[in-house]
Amino acid sequence: MPFLYETHMHTCQGSACGKATGREQARVYKEAGYTGIIITDHFFGGNTAVNRELPWEERIDLFWKGYEEAKEEGDRIGLDVFFGLEQNIHYDEYLIYGLTKEYMKAHPEMEHWNRRQQLEEVHRACGCVIQAHPFRMRNYMDRIRLGLHFCDGIEVANAGNEQMDDARAWRYGREKGLVMTAGSDNHCGGNWPLYGVVLEKRLTSIADYVNIIMGKHSVQLHIPEGRLEFAEPPVIDERHKALMLDESEQEAPAEKEWID
Ligand SMILES: [Zn+2]
Ligand SMILES: [Zn+2]
Repeated sequence: MPFLYETHMHTCQGSACGKATGREQARVYKEAGYTGIIITDHFFGGNTAVNRELPWEERIDLFWKGYEEAKEEGDRIGLDVFFGLEQNIHYDEYLIYGLTKEYMKAHPEMEHWNRRQQLEEVHRACGCVIQAHPFRMRNYMDRIRLGLHFCDGIEVANAGNEQMDDARAWRYGREKGLVMTAGSDNHCGGNWPLYGVVLEKRLTSIADYVNIIMGKHSVQLHIPEGRLEFAEPPVIDERHKALMLDESEQEAPAEKEWID
Protein backbone atom coordinates (compact mmCIF):
# COMPACT_ATOMS: atom_id res chain seq x y z
CA MET A 1 0.00 0.00 0.00
CA PRO A 2 1.52 3.34 -0.98
CA PHE A 3 1.62 6.32 1.35
CA LEU A 4 1.16 9.85 0.06
CA TYR A 5 2.92 12.85 1.62
CA GLU A 6 3.05 16.61 1.14
CA THR A 7 6.65 17.85 1.44
CA HIS A 8 6.28 21.63 1.00
CA MET A 9 3.47 23.72 2.46
CA HIS A 10 2.82 26.81 4.54
CA THR A 11 0.57 28.10 7.32
CA CYS A 12 -0.43 31.67 8.12
CA GLN A 13 0.99 31.25 11.61
CA GLY A 14 4.54 30.74 10.30
CA SER A 15 4.51 32.41 6.87
CA ALA A 16 3.52 36.02 6.16
CA CYS A 17 2.15 34.93 2.77
CA GLY A 18 0.21 32.00 4.29
CA LYS A 19 -3.57 32.16 3.91
CA ALA A 20 -4.64 29.05 5.83
CA THR A 21 -4.07 27.95 9.42
CA GLY A 22 -2.31 24.73 10.32
CA ARG A 23 -5.69 23.30 11.33
CA GLU A 24 -7.30 24.17 7.98
CA GLN A 25 -4.34 22.76 6.07
CA ALA A 26 -4.47 19.46 7.96
CA ARG A 27 -8.14 19.04 7.09
CA VAL A 28 -7.55 19.72 3.41
CA TYR A 29 -4.92 16.99 3.16
CA LYS A 30 -6.90 14.47 5.19
CA GLU A 31 -9.82 15.05 2.84
CA ALA A 32 -7.53 14.60 -0.18
CA GLY A 33 -6.37 11.19 1.05
CA TYR A 34 -2.83 12.03 2.16
CA THR A 35 -1.12 9.90 4.81
CA GLY A 36 0.85 12.86 6.06
CA ILE A 37 2.18 16.37 5.53
CA ILE A 38 5.37 18.26 6.31
CA ILE A 39 4.84 21.89 7.26
CA THR A 40 7.66 24.03 5.83
CA ASP A 41 6.99 27.64 6.81
CA HIS A 42 9.24 30.47 5.63
CA PHE A 43 12.14 30.80 8.05
CA PHE A 44 13.73 34.07 9.09
CA GLY A 45 15.68 34.59 5.87
CA GLY A 46 12.39 34.54 3.97
CA ASN A 47 8.79 35.67 4.26
CA THR A 48 8.31 34.62 7.87
CA ALA A 49 5.28 35.68 9.89
CA VAL A 50 7.47 36.02 12.99
CA ASN A 51 8.60 39.44 14.23
CA ARG A 52 12.40 39.48 13.94
CA GLU A 53 12.69 41.95 16.86
CA LEU A 54 11.56 39.39 19.43
CA PRO A 55 13.96 37.34 21.57
CA TRP A 56 15.23 34.20 19.80
CA GLU A 57 13.43 31.55 21.84
CA GLU A 58 10.15 33.40 21.56
CA ARG A 59 10.62 33.61 17.79
CA ILE A 60 11.18 29.86 17.59
CA ASP A 61 8.05 29.20 19.69
CA LEU A 62 6.02 31.40 17.33
CA PHE A 63 7.59 29.84 14.23
CA TRP A 64 6.49 26.38 15.37
CA LYS A 65 2.84 27.42 15.97
CA GLY A 66 1.54 26.54 12.51
CA TYR A 67 3.08 23.08 12.68
CA GLU A 68 1.84 22.51 16.23
CA GLU A 69 -1.72 23.41 15.36
CA ALA A 70 -1.62 21.18 12.27
CA LYS A 71 -0.17 18.35 14.38
CA GLU A 72 -2.89 18.69 17.00
CA GLU A 73 -5.57 18.56 14.32
CA GLY A 74 -3.77 15.74 12.51
CA ASP A 75 -3.71 13.67 15.71
CA ARG A 76 -7.44 14.21 16.04
CA ILE A 77 -8.43 13.34 12.45
CA GLY A 78 -5.77 10.76 11.55
CA LEU A 79 -3.15 12.62 9.50
CA ASP A 80 0.58 12.36 10.23
CA VAL A 81 2.13 15.82 10.57
CA PHE A 82 5.87 16.52 10.55
CA PHE A 83 8.02 19.64 10.88
CA GLY A 84 10.32 21.22 8.35
CA LEU A 85 11.21 24.73 7.27
CA GLU A 86 12.07 26.70 4.15
CA GLN A 87 15.06 29.05 4.30
CA ASN A 88 15.83 31.75 1.73
CA ILE A 89 19.48 32.61 1.16
CA HIS A 90 19.60 34.84 -1.93
CA TYR A 91 16.31 33.97 -3.63
CA ASP A 92 17.51 30.38 -3.73
CA GLU A 93 15.44 28.53 -1.16
CA TYR A 94 16.03 25.34 0.77
CA LEU A 95 13.66 22.94 2.45
CA ILE A 96 15.18 21.64 5.66
CA TYR A 97 13.94 18.49 7.36
CA GLY A 98 14.95 16.89 10.64
CA LEU A 99 15.56 19.81 13.03
CA THR A 100 13.87 19.84 16.43
CA LYS A 101 12.58 22.81 18.35
CA GLU A 102 15.19 22.21 21.05
CA TYR A 103 17.95 22.26 18.45
CA MET A 104 16.64 25.49 16.94
CA LYS A 105 16.36 27.21 20.32
CA ALA A 106 19.96 26.24 21.08
CA HIS A 107 21.30 27.50 17.74
CA PRO A 108 20.41 31.16 17.16
CA GLU A 109 23.32 31.38 14.71
CA MET A 110 21.33 29.24 12.27
CA GLU A 111 19.55 32.36 11.10
CA HIS A 112 22.82 33.56 9.56
CA TRP A 113 24.19 30.34 8.11
CA ASN A 114 25.51 30.58 4.59
CA ARG A 115 24.67 27.70 2.28
CA ARG A 116 27.71 25.65 3.20
CA GLN A 117 27.22 26.05 6.94
CA GLN A 118 23.56 25.24 6.49
CA LEU A 119 24.28 21.94 4.78
CA GLU A 120 27.05 20.95 7.20
CA GLU A 121 25.19 21.90 10.36
CA VAL A 122 21.92 20.34 9.25
CA HIS A 123 23.80 17.12 8.51
CA ARG A 124 25.44 17.28 11.92
CA ALA A 125 21.95 17.56 13.41
CA CYS A 126 20.86 14.48 11.40
CA GLY A 127 18.72 16.45 8.97
CA CYS A 128 18.77 17.01 5.22
CA VAL A 129 18.47 19.89 2.75
CA ILE A 130 16.50 19.97 -0.50
CA GLN A 131 16.76 22.94 -2.85
CA ALA A 132 13.18 24.10 -3.41
CA HIS A 133 11.98 24.91 -6.94
CA PRO A 134 15.53 25.52 -8.26
CA PHE A 135 14.48 26.97 -11.66
CA ARG A 136 11.71 29.25 -10.44
CA MET A 137 11.87 32.84 -11.67
CA ARG A 138 9.57 35.47 -10.16
CA ASN A 139 9.30 39.26 -10.34
CA TYR A 140 10.84 39.68 -6.89
CA MET A 141 13.91 37.65 -7.91
CA ASP A 142 16.94 38.76 -9.89
CA ARG A 143 18.41 35.43 -11.03
CA ILE A 144 18.11 31.65 -10.80
CA ARG A 145 20.84 30.24 -8.52
CA LEU A 146 21.62 26.54 -8.48
CA GLY A 147 22.99 25.35 -5.15
CA LEU A 148 24.22 22.00 -6.42
CA HIS A 149 26.89 21.71 -3.72
CA PHE A 150 24.61 22.80 -0.92
CA CYS A 151 21.76 20.33 -0.99
CA ASP A 152 21.00 16.62 -0.75
CA GLY A 153 18.48 16.77 -3.58
CA ILE A 154 16.06 19.05 -5.38
CA GLU A 155 12.36 19.68 -5.47
CA VAL A 156 11.85 18.82 -9.13
CA ALA A 157 8.14 19.61 -9.27
CA ASN A 158 6.38 22.42 -7.44
CA ALA A 159 2.73 23.27 -8.02
CA GLY A 160 3.51 27.00 -7.80
CA ASN A 161 6.04 26.85 -10.63
CA GLU A 162 5.71 27.41 -14.33
CA GLN A 163 5.76 24.00 -15.97
CA MET A 164 8.94 24.98 -17.82
CA ASP A 165 10.74 25.42 -14.48
CA ASP A 166 9.96 21.85 -13.50
CA ALA A 167 10.90 20.46 -16.91
CA ARG A 168 14.29 22.16 -16.61
CA ALA A 169 14.73 20.95 -13.02
CA TRP A 170 14.10 17.37 -14.10
CA ARG A 171 16.76 17.55 -16.80
CA TYR A 172 19.20 19.13 -14.35
CA GLY A 173 18.45 16.60 -11.61
CA ARG A 174 18.79 13.67 -13.97
CA GLU A 175 22.15 14.90 -15.27
CA LYS A 176 23.52 15.48 -11.77
CA GLY A 177 22.06 12.29 -10.33
CA LEU A 178 20.10 14.13 -7.65
CA VAL A 179 17.33 12.80 -5.44
CA MET A 180 14.16 14.50 -6.66
CA THR A 181 11.02 15.31 -4.66
CA ALA A 182 7.74 17.08 -5.37
CA GLY A 183 5.64 19.46 -3.30
CA SER A 184 2.69 21.80 -3.65
CA ASP A 185 4.03 24.96 -1.95
CA ASN A 186 0.43 25.24 -0.80
CA HIS A 187 -0.23 28.53 1.01
CA CYS A 188 -4.02 28.58 0.80
CA GLY A 189 -5.61 25.28 1.78
CA GLY A 190 -8.17 24.04 -0.75
CA ASN A 191 -8.35 25.15 -4.39
CA TRP A 192 -4.68 24.48 -5.01
CA PRO A 193 -3.15 21.62 -7.00
CA LEU A 194 -1.73 19.06 -4.59
CA TYR A 195 1.61 17.43 -5.38
CA GLY A 196 3.72 15.23 -3.18
CA VAL A 197 5.69 12.02 -2.89
CA VAL A 198 4.48 8.44 -2.66
CA LEU A 199 6.45 6.23 -0.28
CA GLU A 200 6.48 2.47 0.14
CA LYS A 201 6.46 2.61 3.90
CA ARG A 202 4.63 4.84 6.30
CA LEU A 203 6.87 7.44 7.97
CA THR A 204 7.09 7.05 11.73
CA SER A 205 9.05 10.30 12.14
CA ILE A 206 10.73 12.95 10.05
CA ALA A 207 13.98 10.98 10.53
CA ASP A 208 12.50 8.27 8.30
CA TYR A 209 12.09 10.83 5.52
CA VAL A 210 15.61 12.17 6.05
CA ASN A 211 16.91 8.60 5.72
CA ILE A 212 15.15 8.16 2.40
CA ILE A 213 16.72 11.36 1.05
CA MET A 214 20.19 10.69 2.49
CA GLY A 215 20.07 7.09 1.27
CA LYS A 216 19.49 8.49 -2.23
CA HIS A 217 16.42 6.31 -2.59
CA SER A 218 14.39 7.53 -5.52
CA VAL A 219 10.89 8.52 -4.52
CA GLN A 220 7.77 8.26 -6.61
CA LEU A 221 6.34 11.66 -7.49
CA HIS A 222 2.68 12.55 -7.16
CA ILE A 223 2.40 15.11 -9.96
CA PRO A 224 0.19 15.67 -13.02
CA GLU A 225 0.91 13.54 -16.06
CA GLY A 226 3.41 15.25 -18.38
CA ARG A 227 4.46 17.82 -15.76
CA LEU A 228 8.18 17.29 -16.42
CA GLU A 229 7.89 17.84 -20.17
CA PHE A 230 7.93 21.21 -21.93
CA ALA A 231 4.34 22.16 -22.78
CA GLU A 232 5.71 24.57 -25.39
CA PRO A 233 9.20 25.35 -26.66
CA PRO A 234 11.00 27.09 -23.77
CA VAL A 235 12.13 30.69 -24.16
CA ILE A 236 15.14 31.50 -21.98
CA ASP A 237 15.59 35.25 -21.64
CA GLU A 238 18.45 36.84 -19.66
CA ARG A 239 16.71 36.48 -16.29
CA HIS A 240 15.90 32.82 -16.89
CA LYS A 241 19.52 31.91 -17.53
CA ALA A 242 20.77 29.85 -14.61
CA LEU A 243 23.70 30.77 -12.38
CA MET A 244 25.67 27.93 -10.82
CA LEU A 245 27.04 28.48 -7.32
CA ASP A 246 30.53 27.05 -7.02
CA GLU A 247 31.91 25.42 -3.88
CA SER A 248 32.68 28.86 -2.44
CA GLU A 249 29.15 30.06 -3.18
CA GLN A 250 30.40 32.32 -5.99
CA GLU A 251 28.12 32.72 -8.98
CA ALA A 252 29.09 31.65 -12.48
CA PRO A 253 26.99 31.17 -15.62
CA ALA A 254 25.69 27.60 -15.64
CA GLU A 255 26.85 27.17 -19.25
CA LYS A 256 23.74 25.23 -20.11
CA GLU A 257 20.05 25.75 -19.57
CA TRP A 258 18.63 22.21 -19.40
CA ILE A 259 16.00 22.77 -22.03
CA ASP A 260 16.58 19.75 -24.25
ZN1 LIG B 1 5.29 32.07 0.65
ZN1 LIG C 1 7.41 27.42 -0.07
